Amino acid sequence: YFFCSTKLCVGTISASFNPLETFSRKGKSMLLTGRRAAKILSAAILTGSLSAFASIKQVDSVPGEYVVRLKPGKLFINNKAQLSKALGSFVKSTIPSQNIVVVKRAAFESTDSAVKALAQNPMVDIAEPNYIYKINRTPNDPMLGQLWGLKNVGQADSDGKVGTAGMDIDAEKAWEIETGSDKVVVAIIDTGVDFNHPDLKDNMWTNEAEASGKAGVDDDNNGVIDDIHGFNAIDGSGNAMDDHGHGSHCAGTIGAKGDDGKGIVGVNWNTRIMAVKFLDAGGSGSLEDAVKAIDYATKMGAKVMSNSWGGGGFAQTLLDSIKASETAGALFVAAAGNDSNNNDSNPSYPASYNVSNIISVAAVDNTGTKANFSNYGKRSVHIGAPGVNIYSSTGGAYDSWSGTSMATPHVSGVAALVWSHEQNLTATELRQRLLATARPIAGLKGKTSTGGLVNAYNALTNTTPPPDANDPANWQSQPASYESENPYKSNTNTTTEISVPGVTEFALYFERFDTEANYDTVK
Ligand code: CA
Repeated sequence: YFFCSTKLCVGTISASFNPLETFSRKGKSMLLTGRRAAKILSAAILTGSLSAFASIKQVDSVPGEYVVRLKPGKLFINNKAQLSKALGSFVKSTIPSQNIVVVKRAAFESTDSAVKALAQNPMVDIAEPNYIYKINRTPNDPMLGQLWGLKNVGQADSDGKVGTAGMDIDAEKAWEIETGSDKVVVAIIDTGVDFNHPDLKDNMWTNEAEASGKAGVDDDNNGVIDDIHGFNAIDGSGNAMDDHGHGSHCAGTIGAKGDDGKGIVGVNWNTRIMAVKFLDAGGSGSLEDAVKAIDYATKMGAKVMSNSWGGGGFAQTLLDSIKASETAGALFVAAAGNDSNNNDSNPSYPASYNVSNIISVAAVDNTGTKANFSNYGKRSVHIGAPGVNIYSSTGGAYDSWSGTSMATPHVSGVAALVWSHEQNLTATELRQRLLATARPIAGLKGKTSTGGLVNAYNALTNTTPPPDANDPANWQSQPASYESENPYKSNTNTTTEISVPGVTEFALYFERFDTEANYDTVK
C-alpha cells in the first residue's frame, strides 16, 4: 500500500514493521514494604514478563523516620509523651488534620522491620518511611536560550539543536484569546519561589490578611505566621523564598509577567503564584513535608498544583493528601520523572497515583521527540510538553534547564490559562479538556495516553486537533500490487515505477510478499 499526503510525507521507501517496545528500566524501581507492597510486587510480576527481576530498589528516606497514620478514635495526638509510649517510638511531630504522627526510631533498625513493627501496633492504620523526594531536573550547560516551548520558529535551543517550527504549545495564538487572570491561584510545590524576581514579583499570590496584618502574628489563624506569599513546610514558617532556583524556574514558565518590557513571559501574563516550599536548597524534601505542603495549598484555595518532583515509594499518606486536593476541586499536575522509565510497569510517584485530578507529564524537545530522559507510559503518562532546554527565571536571572520538571509547568500554565477564561469548569472537565485537545505528535505516539503535546490554543477553544500528519497511519492510502514475470528467467532484473498523481512525496509500505514457493505450479 502507498501511504501518501500532499503535505507531509517521508521521502524514502521502506517496509512497514512494528518495532518492539523497549522496556527500559535503568535504575528505576521501588522499595517494597509491608502488606501493600506485596500486592504491588505480584502485580508487577503479572503485568510484565520482563519486569520481575527489577522491582527492588533502595529508595531514599529520612534515616529512622516514619510517617504513621493512627486509626480514628485512638488518639493521644495532643500528648506526645503518651503517644511516644504507646507507639514505642519517639514522636517528632504531628499532622493533626490527617491523624498523622511522624516518629523517630533507632537508625540502625532496618526500614522494613520498623515499618512492620509500627504496622502491628493496634493504634496504627498506616506506617511508611518518611520518603525523600527530589526535583525532576537534569543538569544542563547554562546559556542564553529562547522560549521555543511557547513559540517555536525553528530557532536553535541552548545546545544548538535546530527546532521544528510550530512544535510548541501554540501560546501566541492562545494569547489572542486569553492572557491569564489574577483569579486563578497556582501553587508551585517545590523549592520555593523568588518572590523578589523582577519577572515574578507582580504575579505572586498574596494572602491579604497577612499582608495587611501584624508582623509575627497569624492574622488569618491558619496555623502559619506571616504566610504572605506562601508556606515553608520545612520550618513551618511563612517564608517560602527559593534557595535553590528550581521553583522559580517553574514559576517563570507558568506566569512570568507578560508585556512588561523585560525578561521573559510565562504561559500566563497574569496569574497568582503561591509559593509552597518543601524541597530544600539541595532539591530534596521529605514525605512529611510534601503532605504538609499539599495540605496548605488545598486549604488556601490553590486551583492548580504544579509538582515537578518525585521519588520515594508508594505512600498512602501522600496519596490521601492528593485525594483531598481532588475533593477540593484542584488540578494536580505532576512530572512523569526523568529515568527513561515506563511508568506503566514501574510507577513513579506522585505522577503514577490513580487519582482523577492528576495529569502526568512527559517532556519533548524542540523537534517533538520525546526527551531521552523522560519517563513515559501509554496508560499512566497522559500528555507531553516542552521540557528540553527551557529558558526561564531563576536565581535572580534566567537560565536554560531540562527535565519533566520543565514540562510540567507548561501544562500547569495552560490549565491556569483555560481556567482564567472559563472559571466554571470543574477540575475534571479541565483535565479532560487538556487531554482531548492535545496535539498528536509522532514522538509521543504510544508513549502517553493522548499521544499528544499540550496545546494552549486548542484547549482554550475546545478544538479537537487534526490527526498527526507525520503519522503514516493517518495518511491517505491507495493499494497497488505488482508481479514479476512468472516464472522468471535466471538473472532477471525487473524495475517497477510507481507514481501517484498530485503528491510530491510518498511512502511505500509492503503489506505482503509472495514468492514462487507459494505457487504449486512451480517445480
Ligand atoms: Ca497565617
